[in-house]
Amino acid sequence: MGKPTGFIEFGRELPAKRSVEERRLDYKEIEPIGNEDSSKTQAARCMDCGIPFCHNGCPLGNIIPEFNDAVYEGNWEYAYQILSSTNNFPEFTGRICPAPCEASCVLGINKPPVAIEFIEKSIIETAYEKGYVKPRIPSKRTGKKVAVIGSGPAGLAASAQLNYAGHWVTLFERADQIGGLLRYGIPDFKLEKTVVSRRVEVMKAEGVTFKTNVNVGVDLTAEDLLRDFDAVVLTIGSTEPRNITIPGWQAYYGKGVHAAMEFLSQQNKRVSYTDRVKDHRGDEYKNGEIWATDKHVVVIGGGDTGSDCVGTSNRHKATTITQVEVMPAPKYDDKSQPFYKVRDERTPWPNWPLTKRTSTSHEEGCERFWAIAVQEFVGDGENLTGLRIADITGERTLEDGRKAPITENERVVPCDLALIAAGFVHPQQELIEQFGIETDLRKNIKAAENSYSTSVEKVFAAGDCRRGQSLVVWAISEGREAARKVDEFLMGESMLDAKEVGLFNPAFSHA
Ligand SMILES: Cc1cc2nc3c(=O)[nH]c(=O)nc-3n(C[C@H](O)[C@H](O)[C@H](O)COP(=O)(O)OP(=O)(O)OC[C@H]3O[C@@H](n4cnc5c(N)ncnc54)[C@H](O)[C@@H]3O)c2cc1C
Ligand code: SF4
Repeated sequence: MGKPTGFIEFGRELPAKRSVEERRLDYKEIEPIGNEDSSKTQAARCMDCGIPFCHNGCPLGNIIPEFNDAVYEGNWEYAYQILSSTNNFPEFTGRICPAPCEASCVLGINKPPVAIEFIEKSIIETAYEKGYVKPRIPSKRTGKKVAVIGSGPAGLAASAQLNYAGHWVTLFERADQIGGLLRYGIPDFKLEKTVVSRRVEVMKAEGVTFKTNVNVGVDLTAEDLLRDFDAVVLTIGSTEPRNITIPGWQAYYGKGVHAAMEFLSQQNKRVSYTDRVKDHRGDEYKNGEIWATDKHVVVIGGGDTGSDCVGTSNRHKATTITQVEVMPAPKYDDKSQPFYKVRDERTPWPNWPLTKRTSTSHEEGCERFWAIAVQEFVGDGENLTGLRIADITGERTLEDGRKAPITENERVVPCDLALIAAGFVHPQQELIEQFGIETDLRKNIKAAENSYSTSVEKVFAAGDCRRGQSLVVWAISEGREAARKVDEFLMGESMLDAKEVGLFNPAFSHA
């Protein structure tokens, strides 16, 4: 433990975000990288708990007190070794993870928790700056070939780990660029795409082969993969959007009503100057270019995707932005102080707290309404002009036993762009059907958590396509765990790091 009294002496302080006025004018990241001194001070707040609950909170099992100590001591290389032993991509989680580790930090019982995510970002950015991030090339190859389908965080993590184990990995992606939702979902103001490309270059140097513009199932069949590879890992994400098929949906879909992902991915392509290179399936452009400029925008859905639509609409200079959510507003908001008193009684420490979250996009301006039923897309026959909504005031039981909301205060709000950000229902089924893989009741790929293997011999699955729509940190965790199972399948044993192995095991291959 670096400084036994650090948690008493220092408060939680993060570098100031760029001002709202400045950041609304561009798509650059909002949160700056801290300096070495501020990171050391924050790391000094860690109490090196006997039972570090932060480990449990982190889906990757990051070894947090140890890297905090190394940062406090100024030993950045060691901090990087510890962090990268459990997390392949701290540059992603250090920017966009909701940080469940912080929610379970012991200090958070009666003080603001240790700024773990900020420290994580400082470690990885310092590691890149000082040249500690070097390609880890396996010393010997096993001769086994593995195909990974889908290049989101799950596919990237699985590929990196399987390559460390000495297998030849080919990662297939149907889009024109690598990264999955990191590339064409999450906006640049949260995660600049140079950060994704920087990691892809490291992985290329390590020996992973990337093949973009390959729509597996169409350009390459399941049969081809099963014949040419010793194992296949499906990391195809959960990409089938949940539609809001209220009256008016059919009439105005594509004429003012759009899926959030159509809007967000187009904008990411514009920022990266790849908007002329259409996605393989062309889905994002089938309804033309979508702009929020000078429009009354209503975002339907209160999650991350909805918040990203708000931030993007602000940058497009929308006239008004309204976000509506079906659930009632949580009792406390995440800015309430003191931190330890704001927990909803249903989510006491160390659970993830149920709070009304104000994202950086919300800070930039939008009106938010909770407990709202969306009832009808209204238009002039040609284009969308409004959205009929009502307040949900209770619940009633229908004759067939189903529940329906009791609503009042019905009104039409002006709306010439409605962005549906109501989540994703399951992965697309075509490729799954081609493999003949069993799915669960939600139509996710059925693969047990302790094996990641599907109902088809030598085919594995990880990430959102297996667990349902989730988080980047879970996708990385699943990719790592699945890689270990694939390695065991191919070699009879595995020494790859994974949660069940525990402590850190520096660069390894089957050599
Ligand atoms: C707008 C948005 C914002 C989000 N913000 C956050 C956030 O701030 N923090 C956070 O932790 N999580 C966030 N998430 C969730 C997070 O992005 C996902 O949980 C995570 O990316 C899932 O990773 P994955 O690898 O399983 O799938 P994905 O990232 O979805 O990647 C799947 C990839 O598979 C490819 N693919 C699919 N089918 C085929 C095929 N047949 N052939 C070839 N390739 C194929 C797809 O093109 C895609 O590139 C957000 C999600 C969205 C939609
Ligand atoms: S729970 Fe918080 S204070 Fe305790 S070891 Fe983890 S980061 Fe440090």
